[in-house]
Amino acid sequence: MVKYLILLLFIGALLGLISFSTGTAKKETKKDLSWKDRLTPLQYQVTRLHGTERAFTGEYWDYKGDGIYQCVCCGASLFDSATKFRSGTGWPSFYSIISPATIKETEDNTLLMTRTEVGCQECGAHLGHVFPDGPAPTGLRYCINSASLQFQNRAESSEDAEHQ
Ligand SMILES: [Zn+2]
Repeated sequence: MVKYLILLLFIGALLGLISFSTGTAKKETKKDLSWKDRLTPLQYQVTRLHGTERAFTGEYWDYKGDGIYQCVCCGASLFDSATKFRSGTGWPSFYSIISPATIKETEDNTLLMTRTEVGCQECGAHLGHVFPDGPAPTGLRYCINSASLQFQNRAESSEDAEHQ
């Protein structure tokens, strides 16, 4: 009986691994379905279908907490609140990213203009766009949808680190 249980656990773990690896592969259909289960309709619309939330409606456009903004899909650390600034656009705006390794920039030619789309390098989530009209020191304005972000309070995250 115990042997069967161990065997079942092993098969379960194996299936988990397989579904995890297909989840990170570039197959859009299965991945989309699993994202749909995990995200709110707005989060799904923005991150997986490259949507844009309405200005001044998101959770973070006027949020002033001290911490890290992570990808709502995969938890990758993307923006630091220290680089957030008041842009007046109604979307959370940052003049810098935490690391080029976590952000993927691609040319976006929709809406009859050329913009630079910003996405999560880890999971491909659409985040927003970057424009060359931001403040010093970078002159960049990362215009990001709240729906693609989750906020991690700095105090809480350092407590977590101490407990590990
Ligand atoms: Zn991500």
